[in-house]
Amino acid sequence: MAGGNAIRGTRVGAGPVGEAERGEAAPRRRVSFWCAQAHETEVAFASDAEVPDLWDCPRCGLPAGQDQATPPPAPRTEPYKTHLAYVRERRSDADGDALLEEALAKLRARRGA
Ligand SMILES: [Zn+2]
Repeated sequence: MAGGNAIRGTRVGAGPVGEAERGEAAPRRRVSFWCAQAHETEVAFASDAEVPDLWDCPRCGLPAGQDQATPPPAPRTEPYKTHLAYVRERRSDADGDALLEEALAKLRARRGA
């Protein structure tokens, strides 16, 4: 009686746990992304994973897409320059206005006096 229970207790491990693990080894699919500099990046995704439209190229940092023929355009890498240029433009405009005002004032002063 007791011996029978002992034997049943020592089940050898082809149990449902091992089988489930094997079943969950999800097939992976490899997706290639191309950046604007034609770098190919192959990324493995689980078959049920959502593949993003864009992938950052690990080589140059540009966004890479799945369409080799039409990779996503490189973003303008100078937003700060653009902003600075914008600020400079505004400042120079202001300076220009000030200079113009000054010049006009001198002119008026010369004329009016
Ligand atoms: Zn790249």
